[in-house]
Amino acid sequence: MDLSKDIYKNLWFPFTCSKDIDAFLPRIIERGEGVYVFDTSNTRYLDAIGSWWVSILGHCHPRINAALKNQLEKLEHVLMAGFVSPPALQLSHELVSILPSGLSRIFYSDDGSTAVEAALKMSLQYWKNKGEKRTHFIGLKGGYHGDTLGAMSVGNIPDYHELFHESFRANICADSPYCYRCPAGKSPGTCNAECMESLETILKNQGESVAACIFEPMVQGAGGMRVYPAKVLTRLFAACSKYDVLTIADEVAVGFGRTGKLFACEHAGLTPDIMCLAKGLTSGYIPMAATAAKEKVYEQFCGDFLAGKELSHGHSFTGNPLGAAIACETIAILKEQNIPRSLEKKTGYFTRCLHTFDEIECVGDIRSIGMIGAIELVENRNTKKPFAKELRVPFRIAQRAIDKGVIIRPLGNVLYFVPAYIITEEQIAFMMEMTKESIREIVS
Ligand code: PMP
Repeated sequence: MDLSKDIYKNLWFPFTCSKDIDAFLPRIIERGEGVYVFDTSNTRYLDAIGSWWVSILGHCHPRINAALKNQLEKLEHVLMAGFVSPPALQLSHELVSILPSGLSRIFYSDDGSTAVEAALKMSLQYWKNKGEKRTHFIGLKGGYHGDTLGAMSVGNIPDYHELFHESFRANICADSPYCYRCPAGKSPGTCNAECMESLETILKNQGESVAACIFEPMVQGAGGMRVYPAKVLTRLFAACSKYDVLTIADEVAVGFGRTGKLFACEHAGLTPDIMCLAKGLTSGYIPMAATAAKEKVYEQFCGDFLAGKELSHGHSFTGNPLGAAIACETIAILKEQNIPRSLEKKTGYFTRCLHTFDEIECVGDIRSIGMIGAIELVENRNTKKPFAKELRVPFRIAQRAIDKGVIIRPLGNVLYFVPAYIITEEQIAFMMEMTKESIREIVS
């Protein structure tokens, strides 16, 4: 295939500076196998970030491929209103069997952003149907929930959201549980989840106008893999419960075993009112999402035709049978292989390898949970001063790592690893070693 830059002239890449397309021609990936993808010249790359955190069981998994082919022979799609396919029906039972207890109703959509849109609309209509006026949402600084307008309106990462924020004034933003740069000035030893004080103050002042609080449990992903302790969730849930505010746990990135529990909320032993799921739901095969709700939420949408209480939301591909068949097979594999429990030894190795980054001077923080590992790069370890943005240090490191056969992609000043669970110890060592080499070469 001709790899001149002209072949990209009709494409619009997401989150990509146009000049970078010429400077770093996007590689054309033709096939995948396990943790690897291969380009058109058969060069192999280890997918260290699971292709934006979706690939939990690896590329081209034989069982998932078979489940997809099997469903494809029967039915590719049917509308989900008045009709439903067997896999979409089965998936609702499978999900409820593994979700934190109390989440009993499954609403399907297409991807993480639409799972969040559905959750936000559910919350707004929940209060309307109840006859109460609650129209605001609370999100956390550093939070990310997708790129559709509603999902963006509750996100708070300046690089992604600032451009659009003037249209989203209705929503409120509380402090981030960003332990490395703790907003309350605490350290892990002295922390009592004081970062949640700002949420508590907001709720005290205007809790009665808030429909729901949305958050990423245990890890703020796109904000830089900010891993935080379960006590933050405990405090957040307690504050929301005090003011009757619905809790929306966005488990799009962390669900299905990523953090060492099947769902991240389990670290705190708490069940949110609503939970958003996508990415790993279909092992990264097909865009499909689910928004799970407690029965108390669903009950507000029940009634006869004239009551008009039904959820005013739906997509053409809601409950797509191909996606649902894949999701059922994914859950079967997770159950059979006892994931995430069976990953504990591997996770231990992964974490130990990650901590060897400490020998590199510009690594300011190392954070991990389950099969998520991240390092925050700084110009100065003592002052925690970040590298100047224009130097593009993390971006250049990632490019160098790709040249060495490892796909990583920075989030601001953070480099991270979110590989498929099938990665071996040898592959973990390689992925980290190549990243270290790249850091040393760029920051020397
Ligand atoms: N929520 C979270 C926590 C996410 O990390 C993401 C995507 N990275 C989304 C929502 C949006 O998902 P999608 O890109 O599938 O729309």
